[in-house]
Amino acid sequence: MSQKTPADLRQALRHKLNELEKVLGPFFDRAPVFPGYFQVHQRVCGKPGCRCAQGHLHPGTRVLIPFQDGQSSLSIQPEDVDGWKSRTEAYKQLRLARRRFRSWQAEVAELFDAIEKARRSTEGLRPEDLKRPFRGD
Ligand SMILES: [Zn+2]
Repeated sequence: MSQKTPADLRQALRHKLNELEKVLGPFFDRAPVFPGYFQVHQRVCGKPGCRCAQGHLHPGTRVLIPFQDGQSSLSIQPEDVDGWKSRTEAYKQLRLARRRFRSWQAEVAELFDAIEKARRSTEGLRPEDLKRPFRGD
């Protein structure tokens, strides 16, 4: 990044600005979200003599819910799968958008530094001070 011209850096910043619209996208959605994790899993039903006890497990769906005081598991009936799936998927998109925003922020901060350095003029500085790095560099 240090070899980029000021024009390159401004173009990169313009690109980040356009990218921000996409990064924030999921937060403009209106779909309901649920802060849990949808899972298809294999389970034992517990009925005596059922073949699941011999390892032929039953497929099941559940949502893992991370409550503040511990995780819970909620079994989901087939007719409710779609609703839970879409709410937990929409939640996942929000979490992903948060992570992308943090990366975006870090990349933009790097660009800020590079742009500031590229525009920096040390004209008029004493020769001995030209060798001194600035605070924050
Ligand atoms: Zn069983």
